[in-house]
Amino acid sequence: MKQYDVKCPICGTMNKGIYLGETHGWMECEHCGIDTMNIEYAKKHAKRVPLLRLKQHDPYPAPAAV
Ligand SMILES: [Zn+2]
Repeated sequence: MKQYDVKCPICGTMNKGIYLGETHGWMECEHCGIDTMNIEYAKKHAKRVPLLRLKQHDPYPAPAAV
């Protein structure tokens, strides 16, 4: 499976060797521990996945949820 080097949009740490294919573009930053979705990966592998509306009442807004 292909590995990706992903820069965390929150703290800027480069996370190397991330298996985005396993997580559908999500990764947990090794530095700040925040889960973020890699937008570039998501664009390339865009599938018609329904958005998770169940999280509307989550008190913590998802980071980088664009
Ligand atoms: Zn980070």
